[in-house]
Amino acid sequence: MGHVDHGKTSVLDVLRSANVVSGEFGGITQHIGAYQIESHSNKLTFIDTPGHAAFTEMRARGTQLTDVVVLVVAADDGVKPQTIESIKHAKAANVPIVVAINKCDLPEADPQKIKNQLLEYELIAEDLSGDTLMVEISAKTKLNLEKLVESILLQAEILDLKTDFESKATGVVLESKIDVGRGPVANIIVTTGTLKKGDFFVSGLKWGKVRAIINDKGKNINEAPPSTPVEILGINGAAKAGDDFIVLDNEKEAKLLSESRAEEAKVGKNPLSFATQESAFSSKSAEELNLIIKSDVHGSSEAIKNAISQIKHEEVKPKIILADIGMVTETDVTLAKASNAVLIAFNVKPSKEAKKLAENEGIKISSYNIIYEVLDYIKKRMSGLLMPDVKENISGNAEVLQIFKVSGAGKVAGCKITEGEINSTSDVRLIRDGNIIYTGKVSTIFREKNQVKNVSNGQECGITIKDYMDYQKGDIIEAFNITSKERTI
Ligand code: GDP
Repeated sequence: MGHVDHGKTSVLDVLRSANVVSGEFGGITQHIGAYQIESHSNKLTFIDTPGHAAFTEMRARGTQLTDVVVLVVAADDGVKPQTIESIKHAKAANVPIVVAINKCDLPEADPQKIKNQLLEYELIAEDLSGDTLMVEISAKTKLNLEKLVESILLQAEILDLKTDFESKATGVVLESKIDVGRGPVANIIVTTGTLKKGDFFVSGLKWGKVRAIINDKGKNINEAPPSTPVEILGINGAAKAGDDFIVLDNEKEAKLLSESRAEEAKVGKNPLSFATQESAFSSKSAEELNLIIKSDVHGSSEAIKNAISQIKHEEVKPKIILADIGMVTETDVTLAKASNAVLIAFNVKPSKEAKKLAENEGIKISSYNIIYEVLDYIKKRMSGLLMPDVKENISGNAEVLQIFKVSGAGKVAGCKITEGEINSTSDVRLIRDGNIIYTGKVSTIFREKNQVKNVSNGQECGITIKDYMDYQKGDIIEAFNITSKERTI
């Protein structure tokens, strides 16, 4: 990722062509939105997304496809708006950054200046006592490109990435098209497991059977292990970029899943929303409230940031992932969705497109023009992340003295209440020799063959527990209730 014209395409081209030329495939390449290169028997897959928008879009859809972001910064130009955006997106996704300082062949190149500029964004080079890997390269003269690859591999090693080769494959659609002659084609990256020819799968609302797997060198292959970008034939329609790809046991399962997704899509639900719940927000631990704040002027932005930094709580923390000046844009909405963030507009309005996108995506844009109202709202949202106070009270105990049968009620536990009281709607536990044997609810309480609402200490009674019969002499029936109270900050 990086600013336009800083050399992303050039770097990728050099890496790829070097590999294609030295490789066994004679230079035939296939555009599938990603390329795999090999370095000292390590395989790296570069995703050729045109910028941070696509990256964020994928994340918004529950897809964390990228393990490392390579940030390209031109040494003659420095940190630019899209550089900053890229850093924010990578950070929000918790993806480590390796910096490629490009165009170092130019006489006006000043790599040290770039390193200094990046300090402001908490990217600290190793020679400045930080731990961000930065490599001074030139796509033009091919300076240090090998070193760049080594740094990416080193970063991957630090991450200790692991995946399962054996399981059924899952993946993500990068692009898709309808090809004259070949029909629908989906370009995917296998993320786990190994994809095999003949596998049945679902992708978004579509399904199919893998008829052919073609790799980025244009070669037909029978199997695609994890992280391989491939082209797939056999899907029953055009998938969408960012759609999931899941291999299932058989045709029936694949059809059923795609049909049920189509049904859900018809009634307006997001059939893929389960994916966004689980993986998209891995950057956010349960006790952090992500915030995106757009304000009118620098002064108010600073004031809000300051005020938020004063909100202290042991269990929940506000985390500003973006505080910027200007109207709320589509990128802000997408970022809010991807990071499960609260999106606040202070004295600014959303653009028409952002408003429409927010409506479609179900993202709330909260508008304020008084700072303490912003803070109240943030505190309220933080309170929502707190676990409620849950208390359990024991209301009574009964000892089982004998078991008898009552026609129509089955087995009944003849009890004596030894403490407190038990009523006919109590939650109860059956305790035997100190162990909880069953937890459920009282079904009925009898006194002298009559049903009663409650019994208290000293009284004898018959108790039945819902869906349980196996009472034994000496068992203890303990009645309890649980109260839960919402907490606030
Ligand atoms: P992108 O927009 O980030 O993909 O940038 P490009 O790869 O299209 O490069 C933008 C321009 O910078 C092109 O004219 C390239 O030829 C030039 N360029 C890219 N890398 C280098 C480099 O290392 N040195 C020099 N001098 N020019 C470069």
